[in-house]
Amino acid sequence: MLAPALRILKDVFGYDSFRGRQAAIIERVASGGDALVLMPTGGGKSLCFQVPGLLREGLTVVVSPLIALMDDQVATLDELGVAAVALNSSQSAEEQRNIAERLRRGEIKLLYLAPERLVQPRMLGFLQQLKIALFAIDEAHCVSQWGHDFRPEYLQLGQLAELFPEVPRIALTATADMRTREEIVQRLHLQNAERFLSSFDRPNIFYRIVPKDQPRKQLLGFLAERKGDAGIVYCLSRKKVDEVAAFLSEQGFPALPYHAGLASDLRAYHQKRFLNEEGLIMVATIAFGMGIDKPNVRFVAHLDLPKSLEAYYQETGRAGRDGLPADAWMAYGLQDVLLLKQMLQNSEGDERHKRLEQHKLDAMLGLCELVACRRQALLAYFDEELAQPCGHCDNCVDEVQTWDATEPARQALSAIYRSGQRYGVGHLVDILLGRDNDKVRGLGHQHLSVFGVGKALAEGEWRSLFRQLVARGLADVDLEGYGGLRLSDSCRALLRGEVNLQLRRDLKPQQAGKTATKSAASQLVRGDERDLWEALRALRRKLAEEHAVPPYVIFPDSTLLEMLRSQPGSLAEMAQVSGVGARKLERYGAAFLEVLNGAVETPTVVVDLRHELISLARAGMTPTQIAGQLKCSEKNVYSLLAEAIGRQQLSLEQALDLPEDLLGEIQDAFLDGEGELPPVAALSEQFAGRVAEGVLYCVRAALQAEFEV
Ligand code: ADP
Ligand code: ZN
Repeated sequence: MLAPALRILKDVFGYDSFRGRQAAIIERVASGGDALVLMPTGGGKSLCFQVPGLLREGLTVVVSPLIALMDDQVATLDELGVAAVALNSSQSAEEQRNIAERLRRGEIKLLYLAPERLVQPRMLGFLQQLKIALFAIDEAHCVSQWGHDFRPEYLQLGQLAELFPEVPRIALTATADMRTREEIVQRLHLQNAERFLSSFDRPNIFYRIVPKDQPRKQLLGFLAERKGDAGIVYCLSRKKVDEVAAFLSEQGFPALPYHAGLASDLRAYHQKRFLNEEGLIMVATIAFGMGIDKPNVRFVAHLDLPKSLEAYYQETGRAGRDGLPADAWMAYGLQDVLLLKQMLQNSEGDERHKRLEQHKLDAMLGLCELVACRRQALLAYFDEELAQPCGHCDNCVDEVQTWDATEPARQALSAIYRSGQRYGVGHLVDILLGRDNDKVRGLGHQHLSVFGVGKALAEGEWRSLFRQLVARGLADVDLEGYGGLRLSDSCRALLRGEVNLQLRRDLKPQQAGKTATKSAASQLVRGDERDLWEALRALRRKLAEEHAVPPYVIFPDSTLLEMLRSQPGSLAEMAQVSGVGARKLERYGAAFLEVLNGAVETPTVVVDLRHELISLARAGMTPTQIAGQLKCSEKNVYSLLAEAIGRQQLSLEQALDLPEDLLGEIQDAFLDGEGELPPVAALSEQFAGRVAEGVLYCVRAALQAEFEV
């Protein structure tokens, strides 16, 4: 019954079977019915309208909110040999007329449009003259006023039901909550749509949350095993984003900042680089995310706490869209709690709204301090039940321990109370440990009955305990003051000895260091596979550059990985690899076979090194750092930099960080003579000891490039 759909799946997309509910959805839509599809990121929503679009006669119109998303999908379809175009305002009138002509002639199967464009009367009139196969409304939650992605233009899409009563419509979203779901149905007039609800579990993501100790060091520890992987590091403030990006670059991890404070073209440039290059880390505020369809983001790391589980799920969900192993890692501490509570307090909005936000934050804190399976808790929050602990999160694999903290918790609460409910954790810990310092003495706190009663625990253990008291709402933070702790109503039962308190035992820092990197996800390829893997990636990169598309559009990582493992020896065998459809086989099959047979190993490695070097230089690394990173001599780095400057792939500023006047002096020295630039050798004595000779090569290359154009 689904034979034609399966044939398209295999021939065009190169896949063997449908995933999850794809087959049912495709059947429904291909036969003319409406559908509402709720599927997590990476679940495979695109095929749900692309396959019916190819099965049905006529044009499929896809509504998508962002140009970047459209371009990505059009490029992907183009590579698959499917006639798809996007209409957008950046195209010239000429181009647009051209596209309209092709649409009239029925040469195009899929048309991508922004909602505001689709609902223009002229556009609707134009489409009414054509044979329309299907309307697909992607990111359908944009119609919801309650979500943060609300797009007013989506509200007008409801009229499609009346204007095109015969045309089936499919709405898709990865936002699952009940309220959004009902709004989509109401506003898009999808009362007759069959609903397809998938599990929102992301089984390939490994979750880990560690207590924050020395966050940068902890982050480096986490990244150490993930060199060369692309990922996102989320921070709360712009300043921190800039600092962390610089820090990572210095440490040999090419990283770029992204936040709303950067000029918009720079932001766009960084985003583009993140999509097009491999192994780049984006350090970002939450301004970065929507519209990032890069499938091979291998990790998402949080250095600050998201303000709700919804946000946490969304942000971590950007990892591992391709279904390959990926990591969600977070470092979290008391400071995060204080900061978020403070922001909440100072935010606009009425009391009801604040209470709601407070509940959301509490749920997030609950996940952090949880002792049981994180995935079970996360899914339960979204009303989904996972029968067994997942075995694929830190709590499942580390066997977290709890301890009876009833007595120390009472001591801590008592210290808060007796010191007048106004001091922060540092001072409270000093009291409990009996530290006889100036502040304690000045306040006379050495006379408190709790002074020195807590010597059985170490400072770190006390801090962990205070953090958990606040996270569980047993102590409050005085937000008007200076973050002093207060008792809360809910701590009474504990103080009276009516209940016991079991707390999570934080791993010791050195232990946490050891296990922080432990996850099923670390490393897609084994050591002995690395060379061939890099060679395959280098070829993909080269093809991607030639076609001006991101590498994953040529082949996703999962396809390269399967090539690596199954080692096809012929085109026929290559056709069996998942993700290799007819068109790609024809275009790229032979080239990848050559690499697999080892025919082109050496040159690709060189290409690889150059490419890497350019990325690193652009990310702001110095030649010395680059040499360390690429494990080659500095001399070598300088000559490759000079070469890249000569080819105008790098600017001199990107390659070197020279003081203005020194640069001027060197340039003058080169330009002193008449005619030809003198060779570097002629100047090296003059600048000996002041700059490396390699610097002269770079400056000369820049001058030469400038004069040649
Ligand atoms: P979503 O839009 O739901 O986030 P995508 O449509 O981008 O997900 O699909 C995620 C990835 O899974 C893509 O690389 C896609 O090619 C791949 N994929 C989708 N369906 C299948 C399938 N049936 N078999 C193999 N890979 C698939
Ligand atoms: Zn688990």
